[in-house]
Amino acid sequence: MKNIAVIGAGTMGNGIAHTFAQFDYKINLIDLSQTSLDKGMATITKNLDRMVAKEKISEADKNRTLRNISTYTNLEEGVKAANLVVEAATENLDLKLKIFGDLDKFCSDDAILASNTSSISITQIASVTSRPDKVIGMHFMNPVPIMKLVEIIKGYSTSEETFKTVETLSKNLKKVPVEVNDYPGFVANRILMPMINEAVETLYNGVAGVKEIDTVMMLGMAHPMGPLALADFIGLDVCLSILNVMYDGFKNPKYAPCPLLVNMVMAGKLGAKSGEGFYDYSENRKAEDVSKMFSK
Ligand code: NAD
Repeated sequence: MKNIAVIGAGTMGNGIAHTFAQFDYKINLIDLSQTSLDKGMATITKNLDRMVAKEKISEADKNRTLRNISTYTNLEEGVKAANLVVEAATENLDLKLKIFGDLDKFCSDDAILASNTSSISITQIASVTSRPDKVIGMHFMNPVPIMKLVEIIKGYSTSEETFKTVETLSKNLKKVPVEVNDYPGFVANRILMPMINEAVETLYNGVAGVKEIDTVMMLGMAHPMGPLALADFIGLDVCLSILNVMYDGFKNPKYAPCPLLVNMVMAGKLGAKSGEGFYDYSENRKAEDVSKMFSK
């Protein structure tokens, strides 16, 4: 297993490509436009530069890592020689079903097809392919080069052989793989999102303010970041969409998103990426407060 194709050069895709390439896998990084690929490669270069500055890797390691990555805008060309494809395209069910249908046509019969989806059913993704035994979830955490966990999600038909291959591969990347079955939210988001939702509900009920809620969870529970700052970092739209997947999937009101979260997303307050969420990122003073939370 040497040739890996990564689909999507965004936040997760460029981190996944970086990590594999650093461990000497040959990566084909695929996105819709050369502009997205160039942006992804610039991020990888910047992150490698930071690692060189911190003396975690040498300049030669950096150059070798970059040489291991080739970029493609043509899906068929990018995946035809791959032993494994890791899909990290935009979180959208129809898009993922289309991509996996195409991958099934373009990839060799023995290639494993993995998705980095945060919330979409691996079983459903696998159902549009002729190889559901070779479809699996490989859920990396952001930022990928730093975070140790890989949730490995077994769809209903994923074979033990596919699981073992992906487990070994994750260990080769010096990650810690955790085996999880395919139910809404898997494990990470099933536990994290209700906590974030409860923090929003606590704010909505006027029990305490934003900073107070985050301070309680950081200082009282030793969380490195408060739940509201974390929600801003993840994106409030992403949190809402994952909660909705769990609400629909379990038909259980405990996953119902707080009306305040729904309103904020409708108002375009999506967190750090939109400049405002629970914190205001457009004002230096408030952004500084958040940066303190990030560093504990
Ligand atoms: P992103 O928006 O940063 O990047 C998505 C990339 O996919 C974009 O560059 C886009 O151009 C590209 N893309 C869209 N359609 C494509 C196609 N047909 N072919 C090739 N490329 C295509 O998104 P992201 O945050 O990197 O998320 C990617 C996946 O990872 C999602 O499934 C998301 O749920 C999952 N995920 C995200 C995080 C996170 O913290 N951001 C964490 C874990 C998992």
